[in-house]
Amino acid sequence: MLRAKAGGKIILRRKAIIVSIDGLGDRPLHELGGLTPLEAATTHTFDILAGEGMVGLVDPYAPGVPCGTDVGHLCMLGYDTKEVYSGRGPIEALGAGFEIFPGDVAFRCNFATIDHNGIVRDRRAGRIREGVAELAAILNNITLNNNVIANFAPATEHRAVLVLRGAGLSPLVSDSDPGGKNEGMPIQPIRPLDESEAALKTAEALQQFLAIARGLLNQHPINLKRIMSGQLPANAILTRSGGIATKCIPLQERFNGIRCAAVSGEATVQAIAKMAGMQIVTHPGITGSYDFNGQLKASFAIELLNDNDLVLVHVKATDLAGHDGKWDSKKSIIEQIDNMVAVIKAKIPPDTLIAITADHSTPCEVGEHSGDPVPVVIWGKGVRADKQLAYGETSCSAGGLGRITGKDFFHILIDLMGFSQKLGA
Ligand SMILES: [Zn+2]
Repeated sequence: MLRAKAGGKIILRRKAIIVSIDGLGDRPLHELGGLTPLEAATTHTFDILAGEGMVGLVDPYAPGVPCGTDVGHLCMLGYDTKEVYSGRGPIEALGAGFEIFPGDVAFRCNFATIDHNGIVRDRRAGRIREGVAELAAILNNITLNNNVIANFAPATEHRAVLVLRGAGLSPLVSDSDPGGKNEGMPIQPIRPLDESEAALKTAEALQQFLAIARGLLNQHPINLKRIMSGQLPANAILTRSGGIATKCIPLQERFNGIRCAAVSGEATVQAIAKMAGMQIVTHPGITGSYDFNGQLKASFAIELLNDNDLVLVHVKATDLAGHDGKWDSKKSIIEQIDNMVAVIKAKIPPDTLIAITADHSTPCEVGEHSGDPVPVVIWGKGVRADKQLAYGETSCSAGGLGRITGKDFFHILIDLMGFSQKLGA
């Protein structure tokens, strides 16, 4: 706890840890006797936090609206996604290590295989891995008409990111990617999606880039070698999910100098943390997969609290289990996260708050993100305890936090930490 002086007034400040359990929320499963994986899991620490703290349900974006990990985390960090999010492209670009600036338009891309007639034979170019960096390098830093610069970088496997930079661009252009189940369909021409000059200019620039890319890729030695050895060439780029980068005000500027950090093994959450101006810790030992290493994440989180006020710790594995419909493994991952939180709780400074929540629900029976709200608990000194004794979807529905949005959750936490701004005199 710190008593900071601001404008002659003494302010009580506390640090906090947010544990973001990706896709945590679920629905009752008959295999678990009508409980959710969280309710069926043995979670001593979560339940202590719930018993001593305040619980509720969070609609990350809005009730009944499923959202992605990117949007869910932006909401959880108090951002208005209508202001800072227009599509997945810029998030992918940040994840791929790009510096992006307001006005840049970014796209998710695939290296693909097309035939002489422009028919997509394989949307992933035989899931190409080798040589992707070299192929991406020849598509980087290309000057197009109207002074638009195309920058291109590889992402994972056959995926890549394209960033168009220039005056007056728009994300409102169609995809060249015919979509996941449409192999055998032609690569789609880029069309402006509204009447604006910006959309027309962007569509023309993108179309020009894609033509140049096909020319360069077709004659590249890596592709000639692939053809010789019977592999599919990566001879075209498919684009989708265009978005324009907007000015995203860092948390530190928005909330009285709060210093924030994130621990995550997943590129999407790392990109969101970057947007929010958070310090990011990555390490080969902490992954965005099933082997997430909660103990290592806990030790990074505790270390980061020395120089930060707020630390976000993200675990992806629960979402993966939800997508895979593996309720038993979701339950056991939740138990591992409970152990991770036990370590955090034992080692944090005495007045640190702990909040546990999620970016969205990924119910095992659905295998996709749903619009179900997610359970939340906030624990620590100064938090008004409610009467709920367990951290689960049902118990949280009757808790003191009520039913709130992701943005509400963040504002409540920031206020408990002493970083909020008073409205009015
Ligand atoms: Zn997610």
